[in-house]
Amino acid sequence: MSDNKPQGLGTMAVHAGQVPDPTTNARAVPIYATTSYVFNDTDHAANLFSLAEFGNVYSRIMNPTNDVLEKRLAAMDGGAAALSFASGQSATMAALLTICHSGQNFLSSTSLYGGTWTLFTQTLKNLGVEVRFFEKPEQIAELADANTRCVFFESIGNPKNDVPDFKKITDAAHAQGLPALCDNTVMTPILLRPIEHGVDIVIYSTTKFIGGHGVHVGGAVIDSAKFPWADNPKRWPEFCAPSPSYHGIVFEEALRPMGNIAYILHMRTHWLRDTGAAMSPFASFLTLQGLETLHLRMPRHCENALAVATFLEAHDRVEWVNYPGLQSHSHYEMAKKYLRSGTGAILGFGIKGGEAAGKKFINHVKLASHLANIGDAKTLVIHPASTTHQQLTPEEQTKAGVSPEYIRVSVGIEDAADIIADLDQALQASR
Ligand code: PLP
Repeated sequence: MSDNKPQGLGTMAVHAGQVPDPTTNARAVPIYATTSYVFNDTDHAANLFSLAEFGNVYSRIMNPTNDVLEKRLAAMDGGAAALSFASGQSATMAALLTICHSGQNFLSSTSLYGGTWTLFTQTLKNLGVEVRFFEKPEQIAELADANTRCVFFESIGNPKNDVPDFKKITDAAHAQGLPALCDNTVMTPILLRPIEHGVDIVIYSTTKFIGGHGVHVGGAVIDSAKFPWADNPKRWPEFCAPSPSYHGIVFEEALRPMGNIAYILHMRTHWLRDTGAAMSPFASFLTLQGLETLHLRMPRHCENALAVATFLEAHDRVEWVNYPGLQSHSHYEMAKKYLRSGTGAILGFGIKGGEAAGKKFINHVKLASHLANIGDAKTLVIHPASTTHQQLTPEEQTKAGVSPEYIRVSVGIEDAADIIADLDQALQASR
C-alpha cells in the first residue's frame, strides 16, 4: 500500500497521529502523566520558550497524549492542526476569543446549544464582545461591519435539528472577509466534515459522540489552515503584526514554512497558555478509546434514531417529531444534500398533554437515562425548556427551537426494539 494513499475515516479513527511508543514499544497511546519535560540544556530551554524550536515544555500548553488526539481529530476532519481543551465550552470560548476582542462583534446563527447561547449573550457581552444573531445566511452581509470578526453556527442545531445551508453561510462569511466557525459536535467527522463545505474552523465538545461513553468532559478546535489571514494583515494583527508576548514574532510569517497555522498556534501559545483550559491526558486517553469506534457507532446511532423517529411519528401520544431524517422534517431536503452519511442521533418530539405529560414521560423511562448530556452510547432523554435551555427567555427558547412540550432524545446504540419498547411504555404512562 502506498504511504500517500489517503486513509479511510475508520482507519484514521484507529491510527491517525500515533506510532507505537518509540521508547517502550507500547502499542496503545500512553497516558503521559507528567506536568513538565526535561530540557536537553539551557539553549534548548530558551529556544522552546521563544518558539525558535518546537517541543514539550509544560502540560498546560502541550502533552504527548493530547498530541495524538489532536493529530487524529485534525486528520479525520481534513484539517491541518487541532488543539484540545478541558471542555467544549472552553474550546468555543478559545476559538472565538482568539480573534474577537473587546469592542468587536461576531455573527451567530440562533440555533444553538443553551450553554453556547448564554456564553454569547451574557459572558462574552460582559467582556465587551457583541454577538449579532442571524436567522438566514442573507442577513450576514447586512449585519457585518468593520468590527465583525467571524461567523459562528452549529452543523445541526442542538436541539432545534435544523440543517444549515453550509455553502450559503460560508460563502456569505468569506464575501465579508470573515472566517466561518462551525460547532460540529452533533455530527462528528463521520457524518459531516464541515471543512469540505467551506468552514475554516471546526469546534467540538468531545464530551458527546467523539468520546461516546459519557466518561469525560473535553473539547477541541480544528484549523483548516485555509483562511487567508495574510491577505488582509491590517484586519488580523493577532497573526500578522508583531506579538508583544513573543518578542515581536509575526506569527503568520514565522509559521508560513510549516503552513497557514498561525490561528491554532496562536491559540495554543496565548489563549491556552494564559487561561489554562487544558485537557487532562487522562481525559485525552479516554477520548481516544472512544474515538477508535466512532465510525462504527455513528451509523448505528443514525439507524436507531430513524427507527425511533418513525415509531414516534406513528404514536397516538405524540404531536410531532423533529428529526431531519424524516420526510416530514422541514429540512429533509437540506439534510439529503449535506448529511449523506446519516442525520445523527438527536431527535425531539412534542408529547400530547404538554409539559405535565412530558414530566410523567420522563419519570417513567427505564432503559433511557434522564440526564443533561447527548451523544452517549446509552439512550438519554431530557426536557430542554426546564433544564438545558432554562436560562433563556421564552422568546430566546423559541428561537433555539425549544417549546414547553419538547422532549429531546439522544438515541443510543442499544437494540432499537428495546429503546422503542421503553419509550412506548413511558408514553403510555404519560396519559
Ligand atoms: N456544543 C454543543 C452542540 C453541545 O451540545 C455542548 C454541550 O451540550 C457543548 C458545545 C458544550 O460542551 P461541554 O459540555 O463539553 O463543555
